[in-house]
Amino acid sequence: MTAPVLTAAREQVLADGVGLTQSQVLDVLRLADDDVPDLLALAHEVRMRWCGPEVEVEGIVSVKTGGCPEDCHFCSQSGLFASPVRAAWLDIPALVKAAQETAATGATEFCIVAAVRGPDDRLMAQLREGVTAIKAAVDINIAASLGMLSQQQVDELTAMGVHRYNHNLETARSYFPQVVSTHTWEERWDTLTMVRAAGMEVCCGGIVGMGETLEQRAEFAAQLAELEPDEVPLNFLNPRPGTPFGDLPVMDGKDALRTVAAFRLALPRTILRYAGGREVTLGDLGTRAGMLGGVNAVIVGNYLTTLGRDPARDLDLLGELEMPIKALSQTL
Ligand code: SF4
Repeated sequence: MTAPVLTAAREQVLADGVGLTQSQVLDVLRLADDDVPDLLALAHEVRMRWCGPEVEVEGIVSVKTGGCPEDCHFCSQSGLFASPVRAAWLDIPALVKAAQETAATGATEFCIVAAVRGPDDRLMAQLREGVTAIKAAVDINIAASLGMLSQQQVDELTAMGVHRYNHNLETARSYFPQVVSTHTWEERWDTLTMVRAAGMEVCCGGIVGMGETLEQRAEFAAQLAELEPDEVPLNFLNPRPGTPFGDLPVMDGKDALRTVAAFRLALPRTILRYAGGREVTLGDLGTRAGMLGGVNAVIVGNYLTTLGRDPARDLDLLGELEMPIKALSQTL
């Protein structure tokens, strides 16, 4: 027998395009293992109906790695933990080369990331130079992820032509203080609001499997739905040695898939991206299951500090699943 929440979701989400509420998401997260195949199938139908078969492929590069003054407990780039990531900067020619290599995979988005609380003048100047150089050399959308922004910085990024800004809420508002103590969830929300008002696309997601309860995971999905981001990167905690969350267990694969599908049903129209941690949580089989369970975007190459998959493997998988890569002309 089909679980009641799936029957309701078929009508509400698939037919009408209205995302699940927080309590419905919780029902989904509590579904029995036997219901997971039906859940994934429905999430896939929802994705096909409201987003289409295209998959957005993105590349990501870190211009400033490690040495961050913040204390996000999952992050090996914090300078406050005994993590193995050392501070390093990337120069402009290397940035342009990375953008060219990303474009060559068929990717439409190239995201420039820095491990900082927010950009300082040096980083903003580097970004200005980098964005100009990339635009002159490569046809690709440029995204950025530079932490919390002032209004002036939002305006500058918009003027540079940054297409999308990534800033993750990371987790539910109620759980955030257990994850980060050096800034607040509300400060992150404020940056997102400014980004949206300035006309940049909003990319906002987080990490699941950080010790939050299922109620808090459902709360997080509802808070993202309220924000209505253009894109949601979903990460699964990959416990990094030396970080406060280094000893947490890797999330169970079925739980991870339930979460993917639940987020798709809460956010029927968003670009839902598999971000970091899927290799350790799901492996190859799970990547395929997720692509058939609501996900419609992938990152190619490295995930900042941990080695991701070989881009060719993801691109081969998309070919096999007959999911076309979204073209640049569709994103403008
Ligand atoms: S998640 Fe970002 S802000 Fe937090 S410690 Fe890591 S790099 Fe710094």
